Amino acid sequence: MLDADFFRRWMRTAAASVDREAERLTALDSAIGDADHGSNLRRGFTAVATALEKEAPDTPGGVLILAGRQLISTVGGASGPLYGTLLRRAGKALGDAAEVDEEELAAALRAGVEGVMALGGAAPGDKTMIDALMPAVDALGTGFGAARAAAEEGAAATVPLRARKGRASYLGERSVGHQDPGATSSALLIAALAETAEA
Ligand code: ADP
Ligand code: MG
Ligand code: MG
Repeated sequence: MLDADFFRRWMRTAAASVDREAERLTALDSAIGDADHGSNLRRGFTAVATALEKEAPDTPGGVLILAGRQLISTVGGASGPLYGTLLRRAGKALGDAAEVDEEELAAALRAGVEGVMALGGAAPGDKTMIDALMPAVDALGTGFGAARAAAEEGAAATVPLRARKGRASYLGERSVGHQDPGATSSALLIAALAETAEA
């Protein structure tokens, strides 16, 4: 079973990973966006880590809701409200249980991904974070390692796609040939989940 401490460790691991990879995320965003994805998420996840230290929510749902709220309030770009919605929706789906199992986590993340799709209007294949998140959620039933592999494959598979949502869509055909920054950061988030589960 996964308790609040597991979810706090997931968010801390994600924050460390985003911090390490911020330059790469920003470089990807400089090719098809406005070169701020790494700095946006670094600011957001630093705030998440700080808030979790201070408030230490004692349920999995509480951890994800607090994290989502921090992302919404500290990230100016499109990714803030979208990742905020992912985590808040997932947190709400977990309710006030003290521990959840992997199946409940998978269902909660699916609700979160549906929330992101409802907010941003993106579908799979639009070259967004959805292209990493959706396959990861689909694979989570098989295990954390399978989810990580599916997210990484999904992010890599955005390279030949033409962006249909977000800033990159303004480039039309010129968005082809570049990996989507948000799909890449989503793969980091899922890799952090797998790393937390394996630790
Ligand atoms: P901004 O584009 O406002 O500068 P970021 O650079 O932080 O924000 O985030 C860009 C990422 O957000 C994109 O690479 C894409 O994955 C994701 N994104 C943008 N718009 C949408 C949307 N409508 N639905 C899902 N994801 C989106
Ligand atoms: Mg950007
Ligand atoms: Mg921006």
